[in-house]
Amino acid sequence: VMEKDARTGFLMPPDVYPAAMNPFKRANAALVSLVRNEELDSFRDSMRSLESRFNRKFGYPWVLMNDKPFTEDFKKGVLAMTRSEVTFAQIPYEHWSYPDFVNQTKAEEEMRQMGKEGVIYGDNLSYRHMCRFNSGFFYRQKVLEPYDFYWRVEPGVKFSCDIDYDPFVFMEANDKVYGFTIAIYEYERTIQTLWPTVKEFAKKYPQHIAKNNAMHFLVDNISEGLEGSKYNLCHFWSNFEIADLRFWRSQAYTDFFNFLDETGNFFYERWGDAPVHSIAAALFLPKSKVHKFEDVAYEHNPYNHCPQNRPLFHDNGKCECDPARSFDPHDGYSCHNQWFRVKPVDT
Ligand code: GDP
Ligand code: MN
Repeated sequence: VMEKDARTGFLMPPDVYPAAMNPFKRANAALVSLVRNEELDSFRDSMRSLESRFNRKFGYPWVLMNDKPFTEDFKKGVLAMTRSEVTFAQIPYEHWSYPDFVNQTKAEEEMRQMGKEGVIYGDNLSYRHMCRFNSGFFYRQKVLEPYDFYWRVEPGVKFSCDIDYDPFVFMEANDKVYGFTIAIYEYERTIQTLWPTVKEFAKKYPQHIAKNNAMHFLVDNISEGLEGSKYNLCHFWSNFEIADLRFWRSQAYTDFFNFLDETGNFFYERWGDAPVHSIAAALFLPKSKVHKFEDVAYEHNPYNHCPQNRPLFHDNGKCECDPARSFDPHDGYSCHNQWFRVKPVDT
């Protein structure tokens, strides 16, 4: 007998929901996306991929955020892609606008200049709001208050192997705080004064720098400590993240974000949330709490990570990616060598 689903209004068979089919422990976690109404199709592609490879068996809720109201068409299109609960939230204006300490005339001048130089997203203001939001505000949204862990999902991404275990429960059980798949170089032009600012921060707040941290991922020559160091531009590609929200809510990260934000350089330069998150994770956490998900096959244009172990992933029909064409270890733009020297074996 078909029943009308209370949530979507669709006629459905009386359903066995994933949590009933897979009754194992869950983490307090959500799949989290910042997305625009215009990105419905590519966002549905991401959902189709992650739902079929992972979430249909685990049933984690989705939380979607937008600086504008989501349209009814968008909501309908999203709800049709999952049996999970979906929350749609609009971001408060204060989290997506110029703070009053920023000189907007200067910001516009810098954007024009970077645009002229052909810097990617150089003259784009909404991109800067996005980077600042992902650096300092997403984890404070009301809709994320109930959760400890999140998985960041962008429009147009693809997961190319089955994920047969729960990465959130893995994080929790193994005391992990930050998980990534791809490590890559940042465009120097967008973060020209970020590293000097990080050094000033470390001088002012030495208590926030962790013992056994992953500084060697960020710095090639560590013999002179942080003070004498030069940033090698390596960062975790933050369009994929599985991480602990409590880290971003911590005193260390709160002090860090405020210190960075006050410079205005999310606007004058074009500081990305990827280097900001990466530097925080590499310096404020012991390296044991940072995890590379080698087993998660992930594509975000123009790069993809494909697991290298053929017997485990490729000889058994679990994957549709080509390990020989994985960004790491084959692409010269990858920062995996810098990661491997920090953690030769990622447990
Ligand atoms: P890229 O990956 O650096 O090329 O940047 P994207 O265009 O993919 O943007 C990063 C993330 O922020 C994606 O999840 C986008 O959907 C989202 N995003 C970017 N700009 C905006 C915006 O103006 N509004 C909203 N709501 N989301 C945005
Ligand atoms: Mn993207």
